[in-house]
Amino acid sequence: MKREELNKILKAKDVVIDVHTHIGLSSKFYYQSGYPYALSFEDLVIRMQVLGIDHSVVFPFVDSTFYVNDSNASKIKTTTKFNDFPYEFENENLLKEINEIFPEYSRKALPLLMFDPSREQEKQVAHMEKLSQKYPVFGIKTASTYIQAFVNDLETTGKPILEFARKKQFPILFHSSMHPDDPWASATDIVDFAERHPEIRVCIAHTARFAETVLAKADKLDNCFVDLSAFIIHCKLASQNSVHIAKEDIRFKADYDNPFEVMTRLVDTYPDTILWGSDTPFNYWIQKYYTADGKLLEDRLDCGYMEETQLLNRLSAEQKSRIVYKNIIRFLFG
Ligand SMILES: [Zn+2]
Repeated sequence: MKREELNKILKAKDVVIDVHTHIGLSSKFYYQSGYPYALSFEDLVIRMQVLGIDHSVVFPFVDSTFYVNDSNASKIKTTTKFNDFPYEFENENLLKEINEIFPEYSRKALPLLMFDPSREQEKQVAHMEKLSQKYPVFGIKTASTYIQAFVNDLETTGKPILEFARKKQFPILFHSSMHPDDPWASATDIVDFAERHPEIRVCIAHTARFAETVLAKADKLDNCFVDLSAFIIHCKLASQNSVHIAKEDIRFKADYDNPFEVMTRLVDTYPDTILWGSDTPFNYWIQKYYTADGKLLEDRLDCGYMEETQLLNRLSAEQKSRIVYKNIIRFLFG
């Protein structure tokens, strides 16, 4: 199905869109006994049918085998070098799986291509251009924490990627962080970037880690949106006062033991800004990581596959329509 045909279907009537899902795999997560580590498009479609989701914005997992040879990356290696530049294999395989293995389901997918703002930018642009001519593509996404790349590089060495997004009128979805030791995906950097580029539509993932300063600023900008991806486990982190969440003095005020209350207050406070996204299959997050002083820690956060939609379906029809449809259409198409 062509992009234009899909645009028409999406604009014709209210549908339920999930703005944040991943398919593909992370061998690093798998070999570290992390979870999740994989999801196929076929399995995503089955989940969508069970949960009543019509379309999903979908992108690869956060890894690229490009980083296998990167000395800063995980010690766990895969055996073959597949990529000359970041996400070469992963982006192409995403689109092949959706369009060539499952053409019967392809209209359910709204794919975004992954990019790295800090490395091999020209090669990535040439490849994304080629892929977006061959297959329907709806935007681009980066998860810069995992690849230690900088959001603000889009204005310097990564400018070719920014120009590509501008030319294609592609929105950009950013993984975000408020962790004091994460200089790569700072939610503050992302909202400031959106302010400097009113012509680029931007989405800040993970509710900007509940940073009220960022949420309020995003709400003032017509081109800036915030998605609720992995909402329930982020509420759990907020209840634990985790370093992954904005510090209490700048945190959106709500009762984080009650995710429904948090979601309702967010949607009512920022009615034109919030987008619903599940982060499927990252509703679970079980991962090991090293701290700066070399200690190996493990996070374990559980959220069953139905919980995010159960929460969503408790909203009023008006609230739900804004975050699963109206706002997402504005983010995707302007
Ligand atoms: Zn995600």
